[in-house]
Amino acid sequence: TTLPNTELLAKALTILKETFGYGQFRSLQEEVISQALAGQDALVIMPTGGGKSICYQIPALVQDGSCLVISPLISLMKDQVEALRQNGVSAAFLNSTLTGSQQRMIEEQFMAGEIKALYVSPEKLMTRDFFNVLKSAKLNLIAVDEAHCISQWGHDFRPEYTKLKFIKEQFPKVPVMALTATADKATRTDILNQLNIVHAKTFLASFDRPNLNLNVRPAQKRVETIINWIKKQPDESGIIYCLSRKSTESLTAKLQAQGIDADFYHAGMDAQVKDKVQERFIRDDLKVVCATIAFGMGIDKSNVRWVIHHNLPKNLESYYQEIGRAGRDGLNSKTLLFYSYSDVMQLKQFIEQGEQKELLEAKLQRMQQFAEATSCRRKLLLSYFGEQLEKDCGNCDVCRNPPEFMDGLKLAQMALSAVARTQQKVGSRMLIDILRGSGRQDLFQLGYQNIKTYGVGKDHGFMEWQHFIGQFLNLGLLEIAFDQHNILRITDLGKKALYGEIEVKISKPESQEERKQRLTPT
Ligand code: ADP
Ligand code: ZN
Repeated sequence: TTLPNTELLAKALTILKETFGYGQFRSLQEEVISQALAGQDALVIMPTGGGKSICYQIPALVQDGSCLVISPLISLMKDQVEALRQNGVSAAFLNSTLTGSQQRMIEEQFMAGEIKALYVSPEKLMTRDFFNVLKSAKLNLIAVDEAHCISQWGHDFRPEYTKLKFIKEQFPKVPVMALTATADKATRTDILNQLNIVHAKTFLASFDRPNLNLNVRPAQKRVETIINWIKKQPDESGIIYCLSRKSTESLTAKLQAQGIDADFYHAGMDAQVKDKVQERFIRDDLKVVCATIAFGMGIDKSNVRWVIHHNLPKNLESYYQEIGRAGRDGLNSKTLLFYSYSDVMQLKQFIEQGEQKELLEAKLQRMQQFAEATSCRRKLLLSYFGEQLEKDCGNCDVCRNPPEFMDGLKLAQMALSAVARTQQKVGSRMLIDILRGSGRQDLFQLGYQNIKTYGVGKDHGFMEWQHFIGQFLNLGLLEIAFDQHNILRITDLGKKALYGEIEVKISKPESQEERKQRLTPT
């Protein structure tokens, strides 16, 4: 790559100070800007809040011509443009919220070189009229914000993003800068391929957020845990992410019944109602929002002190993005993820119904590994984003309270032989009931009280067995047949355990004392 002229870089620093009011560049910003000034393509991966916008705004300001910013989020566009205008930068956006004549006026200004940064929605970009506008403008950079929309959400979310290949074809001399907070390798490669910028240099910023305390708990008695959690820190703001719209509403009702200042937010609500909830939250007029993943994109609230995941997210990118909404101000903030096998099963079912099954399943598996980690969670999380942490973090639940292990062979044999004796026809609930010798009616109707292992596991509670079976599934001794009502099947490895040919090391379940602590406010 050619070195950009040092004069331009000096000018970039002046603009950072004078236009944006910041003393120095953050990590990688200067390198990225320098790449753009050299006319080269770039893929910029920075966590949310890392300072991506400046990476394309400053090159636009330093040089002649203007920058085109493709952004999928209309609300974000508006905020960015307003912020730029406040700093004295001529910026505008084009999307469906403007009338035809408003749009034409902006297009005229853009072609006349009067707008330094123009934000457009992908829909707008794809129109023939706008293409002609672009051809007559002087572009110095094309930025593709939220570039992961090309890959992760693919067809459902932003079909237009999959058509952005034409940019490089039509404007081969204009540097393209793709920006995202999503960093896994598959997505990265996908972005580069689809934008036709395979030779672009990748800039990967650190994803470490040492001020976020990471915790994972079993999902049993979630609501009590959440209520206690909030009551321990009643003045702090937080977000609870739920899997479904319905559960945001029902959880809100339960929290409100406890006198907690909570409301819900999901994509099924009127825009005005949603805006109101968001506004109240940002103004500190509302402490707790129970939301689907629709909430938080582009919300700039620095003092969110905690984030809870009521359900398992579908992958580590989503998880990281969502917990990343806590502690933007750098102060200590807490995160809590509830983990249950039934969430995994539900997510698997969603995946089964859609496209790209293999990739999505692999991602879910990494998410699950994180939830079940028995070593530093932050290490695992960062390694997913391609970053190695030398020491354990000391600020996750595993570091603070390392799990104890136990020999699980006998327990595995009990469970596996029970599964075998039912001719592999039961799900985990029935299995546990057999092991614990339940008097459940359908169990008797099926004659399961007569099998040899009936009641052999009664020394352990239902929840403990849930934990054991989860561990056996993770170890690959058992598998779930999703296509057959989630019944359990013994794997080849499971057979070896049954014959005592392998060791089975599992983590100890949450003790009575630990559960009590979790459920009692202090
Ligand atoms: P992203 O798009 O990566 O989520 P933004 O571009 O919105 O992040 O930047 C996040 C915040 O950091 C903004 O408030 C921005 O003004 C601020 N910021 C960006 N660069 C710097 C810098 N060099 N010094 C101080 N603050 C910065
Ligand atoms: Zn740790």
